[in-house]
Amino acid sequence: MRILIVEDEAKVARALQEGLEGEHYEVAVARTGEEAFFRASSEVFDLILLDVMLPGRSGLEVLATLRKRGSAAPVLILTARDSIEDRVVGLDAGADDYLVKPFAFPELLARIRALVRRGRTDQVLRLKAADLDMDLVTRKVARGGRPLDLTGREFELLEYLLRHHGQVVSREMLARDVWRETARATPLDNVIDVHIARLRKKVDADFATRLIQTVRGVGFLLKEGNL
Ligand code: CA
Repeated sequence: MRILIVEDEAKVARALQEGLEGEHYEVAVARTGEEAFFRASSEVFDLILLDVMLPGRSGLEVLATLRKRGSAAPVLILTARDSIEDRVVGLDAGADDYLVKPFAFPELLARIRALVRRGRTDQVLRLKAADLDMDLVTRKVARGGRPLDLTGREFELLEYLLRHHGQVVSREMLARDVWRETARATPLDNVIDVHIARLRKKVDADFATRLIQTVRGVGFLLKEGNL
């Protein structure tokens, strides 16, 4: 398994490289868009980890050119927290998935595993569970064909639950990956619970089947039917 990391910040690149090598991936690092073109066109990679914020040509330009030249490697783009636009443009330009910076390393590993498993045949443009549909490009969510009006945070929360469909998601995971708080303070649990309650109202209140389940003492689970 060979991974190309495209990242201009030396510290970030080194941390990613060490982390991934620790998981027995073979890793190469490109520090600029030009270097990324060169490596990706002369070597074979199973996955490209592409930072959007690069000096000179942005990661998105790099991506568009790679795809135009026929590169079929799965691409996971790393975008800034507030740049929803980049995520959407990135998926349009041929990225297979995105991860918002700063992210936790286990989440990166999970995304890499999912992408490698799936290959390039199926972009993650839509997430689906039962009659719930999320479009990551238009950022529209519908249940049973009826549009749901979600806030940005509710969207991210539901996206996370959908990506972990059928798995229990703890408050620690939500604090880390959705709120991106590393030092978890007790008050955040209440914030999470309030957001879950609001989301549940929008997703489940008008439907016979519940999708967002509470697992007492553990966390939450997106799953059809009752526990
Ligand atoms: Ca960067």
